[in-house]
Amino acid sequence: MNVLHRTTCLLAVFLALSLLGRAAEIPPSAAVAEAETLYADLADSYGVISTIDSGLFATYQGKDRAAWESVYGEKRKQVAEKLSKISASGLSPLDARALDVMNRHLRDGFPEQFTDENAPPGHCQDATHQGLSMASLAGALYACFTELGNNLEFEGKRVTRVSALGMLEEMREEERRKKLFYAFEPLWNAVDGKHDAASPYRRLLPLVVSAADGHGTKIDSAARTIGVSSQEVEHWLVQILDTWRQVDGGEMVEPWNYFYRGGEATRLLSAVTPKDSFPSVNQRYYRDLGADLEQLGVLYDLDARPGKAPLAYTDYLTRGRFVEGKWRPTVVRISGSYATGGLGLLNELVHENGHAVHMMAIHVRPAFMDLGDALFDEAFADVPSWNTYEPAWQRKYLGRAAPEAVSLRDLFSSVMLDVAWALFECRMLHSPSADPNLVWTEITSRYLHIVRHPELSWWAIRVQLVQMPGYMVNYGLGSVLTADMRQHTREALGPFETGNPQWYSWTSEHLLRFGEELDTSALLKQFLGRPVSPQALLDQIRRIAPQQ
Ligand SMILES: [Zn+2]
Repeated sequence: MNVLHRTTCLLAVFLALSLLGRAAEIPPSAAVAEAETLYADLADSYGVISTIDSGLFATYQGKDRAAWESVYGEKRKQVAEKLSKISASGLSPLDARALDVMNRHLRDGFPEQFTDENAPPGHCQDATHQGLSMASLAGALYACFTELGNNLEFEGKRVTRVSALGMLEEMREEERRKKLFYAFEPLWNAVDGKHDAASPYRRLLPLVVSAADGHGTKIDSAARTIGVSSQEVEHWLVQILDTWRQVDGGEMVEPWNYFYRGGEATRLLSAVTPKDSFPSVNQRYYRDLGADLEQLGVLYDLDARPGKAPLAYTDYLTRGRFVEGKWRPTVVRISGSYATGGLGLLNELVHENGHAVHMMAIHVRPAFMDLGDALFDEAFADVPSWNTYEPAWQRKYLGRAAPEAVSLRDLFSSVMLDVAWALFECRMLHSPSADPNLVWTEITSRYLHIVRHPELSWWAIRVQLVQMPGYMVNYGLGSVLTADMRQHTREALGPFETGNPQWYSWTSEHLLRFGEELDTSALLKQFLGRPVSPQALLDQIRRIAPQQ
């Protein structure tokens, strides 16, 4: 779950399994194989420079950033040259796919000039300028989240957007919650201006729609990923929200109380979720799932420090590959800023480690050593992390549990906001000239029982809405996939709420090892043995109704 917001002995087991399954594989053509070796070096130099930029270390293997940047430039040139000389005709289907994937990443993922991904790409104030390109306007609005969102003024102090949302779950006095909620106003007004047609957000949407002309929006591509139409996606989102509407109890709340109403489990468990306990709880849980994070060599960078990225993420340092006939494992790193404890943040850390074990499990040729699309990748990380809201998990790892209905309400009231944002984006991208405040008010009052405030642009608290319009579907629809994969795993392996020693090897073998070798739609069909369905999520949501 993203409230706001990515082995040796064990590896040997599933490596053996995965090699067995591929005995008949034809080796890649020599030209493609040569390009892939260079491509692997390029990807590794990229990983090293990003890690240096993150502040985890200043040099790697004796070389500093400048030296690695020249490696990167050199490798990029060599890869581009090699790829340009290979023609897809006459290649095996797998080689053709490898060529296609490498060309795509070279274009979208490995820029000619290396840029620091965490540096803001513009200034918030620029968003008021007319006639900006889509990228400049989105960049300026992203900057509003760093400049204003990370500096909300509350009770004479500055708080970040992420901590403010956490505080809204825990603060006992309603008056203070209301004040903190209104502290977001400068951000809302920067994103939505005077709520008229000249609002930066409303100028951004037509640009996004015309840029998507021909190949579809992010919503269309998420729908394709799971093999359904975008109309069907929208229908599912409504169905999910409507199920919540029926079981939620129906009492209307002010928006500043929505987070508090959902946060009871977080409050009940706050004494047993101090931030210092996070690493050991996380390690123990993954060990019980059959993944020893220490042996896997995951690198952690979890202390808050100035200038650190405003959100938690997981990334490659170097990717696994064969070196002289032996598999050299992937190395991943997790960056987060845990200044406080709490169940929500613990869940986030477990989610990031879900990304880490996913990356470690990928075991394919260099061209395919990537996570694939965001929808699957985010949904999978929640497969282990949703257990933090299960009473059995809490009893085992925290020593105390919140009641089931209360705990699942905590999880799903966040998930429902993600689903609401996904539906909001579906509707806004259909009708870019619609008033976003009205669209948001309609969805949140009808389905989430939140009191109408069409005068406020309070939908503008997720940076993805302006940075990559349409992206929220990856979270909203992602919850469908998460629930479906969890259900299928339980049917195949038995319960895994409090660990299951087969979980990691089985999941690696059936779901994770393929990287970009398979399309997600094919992978899911193979894994589930049937099309993806929202039924598992609908069943889970019904658990928030207290037992009669
Ligand atoms: Zn994630």
